[in-house]
Amino acid sequence: MNVDSVFERYSRPELARLFRALRLDVTYRSGQGDHLTRESPGAGDRPEAADQVLDLVGGAGSSLLGHNHPELLAVARRCFDEQIPFNAQVSVRPGAAELARRLSEIVGSTTGASYVVTLGSTGADAVEAAVKHATVEHRRRLGALQEDVELSLRRVRRDAGADAVCADGPAAGRRCAEVLGETLDRITGMRETDPVFVSLRNAFHGKSAGAGTLTHGGNIPADLHVPGPRHRRLHDWTPEAVVSALDAERVAVHTVRVDAAGVPHSAVRHLSPVAACFVEPIQGESGVHEVPVETLAALRELADRHDAALVFDEIQCGMGRTGTFLASEGSGVVADYYLFSKSLGGGLAKVSAFLVDEKRYVAEFGRHHTSTFADDDFSSRIATAAVELALSYRDRVVETGARLRERLVEVAERWPDSVVEVRGRGLLLGIEFVLPRPDSGLLREAIDSESLGYLIAGRLLHTHGIRVIPTLSAPTTVRVQPSALLEAADVDRVAVAFDDVAGLLSRGDYATLLAHLTVPATEEWKPRQHVPLPRRDWPAPTGGEADVPRVAFLANIDSPGKLGSLSPELAAWSDAQCTAALDRMWGELDPFEVVRHRVTSESGGEVEVVMVAAPFTAAQANGALRAGHGAWLRRTVLDAVDLSVSLGAQAIGLGGHTSIVTNAARDVVEHDIKVTSGNSLTAACAYDLLRLQLAETDGERRVGLVGAIGNIGAVMAELIAPHCDSMVLVGRPGSARRLEAVAARLPGRVDVRIAEDLDALRDCPIVVSATNSADPVILPGHLAGEQKVLVCDLAVPGDVHPAVAGLSNVTLVSGGRIQLPGVQTPHFPGLTLPPGILYSCMAETMLLGFEPGTPSPSYGGLSSKGVLAARDLAARHGFLPARIVSDDVSVQPWITDQFSRTHEEHTR
Ligand code: PMP
Repeated sequence: MNVDSVFERYSRPELARLFRALRLDVTYRSGQGDHLTRESPGAGDRPEAADQVLDLVGGAGSSLLGHNHPELLAVARRCFDEQIPFNAQVSVRPGAAELARRLSEIVGSTTGASYVVTLGSTGADAVEAAVKHATVEHRRRLGALQEDVELSLRRVRRDAGADAVCADGPAAGRRCAEVLGETLDRITGMRETDPVFVSLRNAFHGKSAGAGTLTHGGNIPADLHVPGPRHRRLHDWTPEAVVSALDAERVAVHTVRVDAAGVPHSAVRHLSPVAACFVEPIQGESGVHEVPVETLAALRELADRHDAALVFDEIQCGMGRTGTFLASEGSGVVADYYLFSKSLGGGLAKVSAFLVDEKRYVAEFGRHHTSTFADDDFSSRIATAAVELALSYRDRVVETGARLRERLVEVAERWPDSVVEVRGRGLLLGIEFVLPRPDSGLLREAIDSESLGYLIAGRLLHTHGIRVIPTLSAPTTVRVQPSALLEAADVDRVAVAFDDVAGLLSRGDYATLLAHLTVPATEEWKPRQHVPLPRRDWPAPTGGEADVPRVAFLANIDSPGKLGSLSPELAAWSDAQCTAALDRMWGELDPFEVVRHRVTSESGGEVEVVMVAAPFTAAQANGALRAGHGAWLRRTVLDAVDLSVSLGAQAIGLGGHTSIVTNAARDVVEHDIKVTSGNSLTAACAYDLLRLQLAETDGERRVGLVGAIGNIGAVMAELIAPHCDSMVLVGRPGSARRLEAVAARLPGRVDVRIAEDLDALRDCPIVVSATNSADPVILPGHLAGEQKVLVCDLAVPGDVHPAVAGLSNVTLVSGGRIQLPGVQTPHFPGLTLPPGILYSCMAETMLLGFEPGTPSPSYGGLSSKGVLAARDLAARHGFLPARIVSDDVSVQPWITDQFSRTHEEHTR
């Protein structure tokens, strides 16, 4: 097993697949400064074994000092050389003490305060510590108030008497004991309910249970969210809105003070459930958004109004990333708590720090908030050195950041239709791209707001050797977070690379933008079994209410070569490129709408047909079925069904493999929506063609039927049997028993032979084929060499090898095709059919739209009765079977009386 497979199987299956899909499945061997050295994935792509990549991700903002900074390596080496104990819990830890002192000193030099520092290992650790500290602080404050009120009550009783009445104030005239009793009840009530935490729209504070609640967006599906503390989100950042946002939460209570003369005076004070307000002075993961100074000031006011702690989460923006140690330094707003992590570890250690103004520090907190790896000397010593280095790089950060920003702004100005803007400060920059709207549904699905940034990342990596990723909760923004060591020449490189990508997007050159995806993956994609994927919530219908019935026709991509037709933007890709790209992306694309058209019936009816693509090819489907991953495919088709339902389809047709993987449509269970495989009409069209042919045959009427155990094959056998002298039912090796079951149902007078070898077709003048194979199964050598042969191919993709069409004795007819009435030539991308001709299965879906009362003739196994019903349905609306020999199209009327007579004979 190579490293990719191990990662996928044992570590992060979904990420392994996603990285492969986006071709971000790259391994880095070493890192130095701003550069990573990459292990080349597979030998074919680049001959050299390694590749230098300029890293602008920098550990999601953790590498302000680059990778393996020599001074920090020296500290680490000293730790190893001295053999300092990594584990020395429950002892005095000199490294932790020194780090805490320096952090307090540095932050204090801006704020004027002194801090107690709690160390942890991750950013979320620091956030959790802050949540916990604020909760305790809040509870203890209420506890102190309760004691105060109880004391007041005793004082009133002692100094003014048990029945004393408030002399003035808001409770004037009311009994003091009653007023204070009410206040005590309110305080108790508030102490017994959980406190409330506040964070901003688009905030990111981590993903643990508590921190995850404060985080907004983050693309977390609802069922992966675990409820944390009570929480309010501030969507409106205007100072007035912020200050008053939680006024409704405040509860007014009365206090009573007895003066020296024994007179009780009442007053109002407010209780609030709010314990803390969290804010990132520059929001990182939401796309790099600076929180305006006025909003920070308003948050300070809000926190004061509620007696809550103001928390500045400087985990990403702090530690000198913007040119000052605190990103909030210039705002003049001072918080009560400060959080650091990421670059604090210097790129070598995992460490975080929670600083609380010592005036607010709650006694005993440190004794009860412990963690095995907090306070280790190794991380602390590296962090202390990292802090000094970060301070020394401040000017460089400002200069390099300004130059980089300027160059990126030039790019944005050059390509205003592909770049929204460049945001950020110092070396915390983000470049937001405009979400493109390609013409084809396939590309609109592939390039959505979730994937755009990652697709750009792939282009930058493979073409420019530059590593970026989008910000986590706003993935149309690409983060640019290099280290303070970035060289001037690299600034130019970055600008050139972004200019390339912005230009491609602006020109709509998707074939080039996505070319990196057309290199075959080194590992074959395998769906994971046993993953119960929840049903998706599709967006509200986009198509609006249709004034005519709407039906949906689902189809998979029959072969990779159809990609160019589905997506003309990618027409420049070769078949091999299309195959590689589809194989990479398989399982990561959702079903999508391809096109919609209106179609009319001869009798004047009208339907709107929406073509929905199930994003897998026939070969992928067969591979997955063979590997036992039918459930995965079924899930994909059911997603396509859900999309169709959300689009308002009243009938849903399952074309190609979508019916095969849903057990001939039986697995699609919908209320009030007709579901059809459309196979009855396919069989009806082929049957009519064959009927005529058999009637004209002089010699022995011998038919070879390939794929006879399939849904269409089995009913074709039943239908044709009465019209021929003998039949050969051909199936895959191992299918004999199932073929015999089909044969047993045929009328006795036909001579039936079973074969598991296609050579059995050599003596058949008529061959019918309806397999599910992704590749041609009938080759020239399988057919009679001299005598005339008619081959009717019902399969999509076709069962007959192209070389067969070149044989002079063979007439190749595409079966299962139908012509629309009148002159209607709707274009359905991916279907390579002559104008006005459709697959019969698709037509059956439309026909059901014309006749809301008619039941589906093709749900589950087919019957000759259903085939007949489909045929009558088509006849009523003027849809006629088409006979296509090479490019030659002829249309024939339905053979009504013969058809019925045959059926009667057959069912007799
Ligand atoms: N706060 C902020 C502002 C962050 O950017 C992050 C990480 N992106 C966190 C908290 C959480 O840090 P961690 O991933 O180390 O838990």
